[in-house]
Amino acid sequence: MRSAFGSGVRLRDHRELSREAAIENAHVPAVCTLPMQQDGGPSAECVVEVGDIVAEGSVVGRAVAPGSANVHTPVPGRVAAIREMNLPGHRTCQAVVVVLSGRFARSGKLVTPQDWRRMGGDRIVERLRAGGVVGLGGESVPLRMIWGDHRPTRTLVVNCVEAEPFLTASYRLLVERMGRIVTGICIVQKLLEPGRVVIGIAADQVDLVAALGAQIRAMGASYEVAALDTGYPQGQPRHMLEAITGRELPHPGEPEDLGCAVVGVDTLHAVYEAVVLDRPLLERVVTVTGVVNRPSNLKARIGTSVRELIEECGGFRVPPERVVLGGPMTGLAITDLDLPLTKDVTGIVALSRKDRAAPPRTSCISCGRCVSVCPAGLSPLVLHKQINHGRPADAVLDGLGECSECGLCAYACPAGIPLVEILRHGKALVRGGRG
Ligand code: SF4
Ligand code: SF4
Repeated sequence: MRSAFGSGVRLRDHRELSREAAIENAHVPAVCTLPMQQDGGPSAECVVEVGDIVAEGSVVGRAVAPGSANVHTPVPGRVAAIREMNLPGHRTCQAVVVVLSGRFARSGKLVTPQDWRRMGGDRIVERLRAGGVVGLGGESVPLRMIWGDHRPTRTLVVNCVEAEPFLTASYRLLVERMGRIVTGICIVQKLLEPGRVVIGIAADQVDLVAALGAQIRAMGASYEVAALDTGYPQGQPRHMLEAITGRELPHPGEPEDLGCAVVGVDTLHAVYEAVVLDRPLLERVVTVTGVVNRPSNLKARIGTSVRELIEECGGFRVPPERVVLGGPMTGLAITDLDLPLTKDVTGIVALSRKDRAAPPRTSCISCGRCVSVCPAGLSPLVLHKQINHGRPADAVLDGLGECSECGLCAYACPAGIPLVEILRHGKALVRGGRG
């Protein structure tokens, strides 16, 4: 069993809430709110006007800058508004509001799968670009950015480990759509031509690997399996990569710097849909869990409000202490339930006071726990003070850019200081030139 950081931290596992919940199609929303920025890159450019009639799957935001991705409307209808929107993580962008009307051009229609084996690399990349496909994990960037430059890839790592302790969407995709995931692996393999394909999976899920392996072999491909320790933050790409290759990824650095590519299960599913079904990224599978009456894995249209998705799961069982987009370790707390589902949201988790387990906030007592748990070897103790004192540039000099936002420091802090939120805020200040 491999791990790059000892055995990590054993978090209480809450995945049993939704692990057996089969993926269900969420209701089609009457209104879709579509932010022009849904990933780590710059905003797309809005290409519609108020009053325009749009077909299901048509482009409403066009990728114009390196790192931006096309945005499509997942419902047919009329553009009712275009407005500024604040998104979690200190992001602001335009959003297109589409009110449902008219006929669905794609949903419910028979689609003939296209033969990806006959497609060249350029055509595959073009399908990913046109389809607005981004990495669907927490930090998503358009795939064409990382795969379109044909840098040599020695190792393709398939990330089957769900790092967050509440999320099960990837697991359900793997169980229920394994054939599509395997085809996705083969498409990426064709595109990147890696020397090896390694499937990184939690050591307690190796039963899934036998089934996955049989399907990959049936496609004529070869693979290796890395059974990984389940301590947090093993599922984060950096840690998984270091566990598998035994090499340290430099800071700042991308997997490509080690000749590797890391791709998650939900992204592979989107690759399959874009390349084989010529279907843009209109939906994603999202886990809705925590103190909701019916924890679920929903296939939901991008732009559906968080409120509707929670209502679809029977509403809150008890008033939540906090609602988080993503998981409790790396996710972003929200107060506005009318925010839309975006491409980069892996889960919606309603946390009770007990789940949250954060002590009341007090001043830093310089205990050093945040330093001892940080897998990047940083000192959140120093960084958060630099940011709070208006010196984010100093925090950058002390390694802020190396923070993977894993959340362990905040988890360990006995003073209840929201360290990750402060570190993220510091990064946003620097990005915005306010460092
Ligand atoms: S864990 Fe919290 S209280 Fe302890 S040093 Fe870090 S920030 Fe301060
Ligand atoms: S979130 Fe905290 S523990 Fe995790 S890498 Fe960043 S500073 Fe270190």
